[in-house]
Amino acid sequence: MDNLIEDIENIVGPGGVLLGADVLGRSDFWPPMGGCQAKAIVRPASTGEVAKILKLCHAAGQAVVTHGGLTGLVGGARAAQDEIVLSLERMKGIEPVDTVNRTVTVEAGVPLQLVHEAAEDAGLLFPLDLGARGSCTIGGNIATNAGGNSVIRYGMIRDQLLGVEAVLADGTVISSLNTVIKNNTGYDLKQLFIGSEGTLGIVTRAVLRLRPLPRSSNTALVATDDFDRLGRFLADMDAALGGTLSAFEVMWNDFYQLIVMEIGNHGQPLPPTHRFYVLLESTGGHEKSDRARFEDALSEALDAGLIADAVIAQSKQQRADLWAIRDDIEGLTKAFFPPLVFDISLDIRQMDDYVDEVRAQLSARWPDSRMVVFGHLGDGNIHLVLTVGSHEPGEVHAVETIIYEALGRRHGVISAEHGIGLDKRAYLQHSRSSDEIALMRTLKQALDPKGILNPGKILTAQKETTV
Ligand code: ZN
Repeated sequence: MDNLIEDIENIVGPGGVLLGADVLGRSDFWPPMGGCQAKAIVRPASTGEVAKILKLCHAAGQAVVTHGGLTGLVGGARAAQDEIVLSLERMKGIEPVDTVNRTVTVEAGVPLQLVHEAAEDAGLLFPLDLGARGSCTIGGNIATNAGGNSVIRYGMIRDQLLGVEAVLADGTVISSLNTVIKNNTGYDLKQLFIGSEGTLGIVTRAVLRLRPLPRSSNTALVATDDFDRLGRFLADMDAALGGTLSAFEVMWNDFYQLIVMEIGNHGQPLPPTHRFYVLLESTGGHEKSDRARFEDALSEALDAGLIADAVIAQSKQQRADLWAIRDDIEGLTKAFFPPLVFDISLDIRQMDDYVDEVRAQLSARWPDSRMVVFGHLGDGNIHLVLTVGSHEPGEVHAVETIIYEALGRRHGVISAEHGIGLDKRAYLQHSRSSDEIALMRTLKQALDPKGILNPGKILTAQKETTV
């Protein structure tokens, strides 16, 4: 054990440092398959311990990769042999919910689902929601500016965060645990850490904004064969539901067919013959009138020919069954294992054409390739999951070139939710100008002059090593 690890063990205690086989047995990416290469995994139990560890690492020029729930999809948590992993798994505290100001302060290692439960126990809602809710952590959600299924109504975590506490590279604790909604006292420092993927500081605590717990929820699966009508359907439903549209998730036919026909543990709430399916949900404050408004809005859309078919959930179980189709990423991953995953934003009007072009190019080069498309149409964000039967770097690069070139011509965004990490780094300039990237480097240099925090993620490390 080198001196630095020994010094860290003195801070976190003997159980707080994992070495050798205990490190190799863990993963640093998703899906978890073991093989973490880091020289140690350190597990502090408090902000004070994180600060002491970073102070030592800063003095030693030791690189640190922060780990949350390890559900990221862009290699943002991957650690090299000479790096130390700092896992926040011991920091799972949730303070009592403030029901008057509707906030809760939590530690970064708390899984998202436990925040949902704490809020609900207090009669409130923490609206950020995504498929990985049981494993992903609030710290990771903040570090990647997580989005998910309810962004259309509540925004990404950036919009649900009032304050953060973060530790800088040199061990300085920035306690910016603001609890009020309006605070214009200078720079909004929490924004530095949101979406920074562990490169500017380590988030240790957060003040989350809670919302009223809905008293009603109405969920439907609808089908249509015309993409142009989907956009009109979205706009009409948003207007008719008076701001209560909480999810608008689209599934291309290929996704729906795979889940309900091949994976097989789901029913077929609608026949698998339509081109597009939308899972939409509205939540509100009055069961009877919300239901009537939801049904009226849908029947108007049917009458106007915007949708071809619809099924409305009649019970909590039916609602869960509909969501299980959209959320069966595990089944999808197994069917395409290991999948190539893309996460793009694009003008809704160009999406259908974009998907068709990508599919045609993939099929031309890899006749056996398969791709399914789904995502958060209401946010202009779709996920493309595909397999071309090979994961050779050259083949992956060829796939990326097809995906991003077609996207670039349409001025799309290469990462809507997942972030940049290592995997999308080479393509950052497709979505950001050289001046924007230069400003990112200026921030990195100012906050982490030795480049010890998650080196090489988002930006290449070469210019960060000058002290
Ligand atoms: Zn998503």
